[in-house]
Amino acid sequence: MNHLPNSTAARDIATLIHPYTNLDRHMTAGPLVMTRGEGVYVFDDSGKRYLEGMAGLWSVSLGFGEQRLVDAATRQMQALPYSQLFGHRSHEPAIELAEKLLAMAPAGLDKVLFANSGSEANDQAAKLVWYYHNAIGKPRKKKIIARTRGYHGVTVYSGSLTGLPANHADFDLPVGGVLRADCPSHYLFGQPGEGEAAFVDRIVGNLEQLILREDPETIGAFIAEPVQGSGGVIVPPKGYFEKVQALLRRYDILFIADEVICGFGRTGQMFGCETFDIRPDIVTVAKQLSSSYIPISATLVSRPIFEGMLEESRKQGVFAHGFTYSGHPVAAAVALETLKIYEERDTIGHVQRVMPHFQSRLHALAEHPLVGEARGIGLIGAIEIVQDKRTRKSFAAADGIPAMAAAATLRHGVIARAIRDAIAFCPPLIISEAEIDELFDGVRHGLDEALAHARAKGLV
Ligand code: PMP
Repeated sequence: MNHLPNSTAARDIATLIHPYTNLDRHMTAGPLVMTRGEGVYVFDDSGKRYLEGMAGLWSVSLGFGEQRLVDAATRQMQALPYSQLFGHRSHEPAIELAEKLLAMAPAGLDKVLFANSGSEANDQAAKLVWYYHNAIGKPRKKKIIARTRGYHGVTVYSGSLTGLPANHADFDLPVGGVLRADCPSHYLFGQPGEGEAAFVDRIVGNLEQLILREDPETIGAFIAEPVQGSGGVIVPPKGYFEKVQALLRRYDILFIADEVICGFGRTGQMFGCETFDIRPDIVTVAKQLSSSYIPISATLVSRPIFEGMLEESRKQGVFAHGFTYSGHPVAAAVALETLKIYEERDTIGHVQRVMPHFQSRLHALAEHPLVGEARGIGLIGAIEIVQDKRTRKSFAAADGIPAMAAAATLRHGVIARAIRDAIAFCPPLIISEAEIDELFDGVRHGLDEALAHARAKGLV
């Protein structure tokens, strides 16, 4: 495409490095420029409307144009736009948000440490694991187990915890101290003829072998998303987390639950930990914490971990960690208002009412010739695009069929996300049943177009 000089597209190409974008293709393709949003919809600069089937990046839970969040930010900007929590300073928005978070959070969590992104929340979770184990006189207990296809961020350490090759290649990651466990997708990684229960036993057995091989005395924590999101929306099989947790308890390994996507209602309960009966020692949250209206994240820790931190900081003189924007008052005020809205409007009750419709429309896609599996829970889901349903063979990457289906869906006015061979859906939590229909009607059009293309090319 030839972009007019001084057009928005030309200025974008001249200046911006786009995250998670094919940089070379962007030089000619240019950007899709969004200008405004309303409810579950966003509008581009030509005025075209899209249903935001990914809620931005799994995150705009309350949809676009929520005036109460704008007002909360304005009030706080006028009163005190910035203050900090370093050196004993404090402010009401951070205190009130911490109180509210702890009241909502899974049982056993006792203190909150704020940050600005999911990556930072996970990065500092790892640092707290190390700090704590130094405090309790177990300085060897430092390695962290993360899973294939897990996504925990892109900073040097959270990117190392992430279990996706593209995040490591050419960035010289992972750094040391990260161990890799299996992804719990029975569809993708089950062996021929292996039932779901046998699959769980096999991968939990692999986890135990890993722990023993590495020496449990060197392993500090295990990190997991209750539902793996960016790895392709992997919902764990029944019994998986129960068995994993029994193992971790046996070897005295902490559980970090990365609730960055699942937190605040995505799975139909407040936290994914409730949906999957996970009892975490550390929880990280971001995204839906502020409905993504402003960057903020948090790491929540249990009482024993905090007591260890107390002990260690007594020795060190100060807990020498924190960001300029840890607990930023404007971000905290917006997050607090977001959590109040969830409660006052019973957002979880709404999710529970519409999620059966979402899941039934999602699972109906499994009949489509290109769809090998439809999977999901609550208001999150994905379909796996295959060339051959029986053998589960995927298309060659060069054929680009999943990306083509997502692009065709976009042309039909619905935003969905291609992740390898999957297409993911994660709409705002406020979505109605009629809007769910619109979402999946658009996806079906996209799939039909991709199928027509695959047939024309003789691929199916
Ligand atoms: N954890 C999970 C589960 C995520 O999905 C993400 C972002 N997609 C992150 C961590 C990283 O968050 P951020 O992009 O805010 O650093």
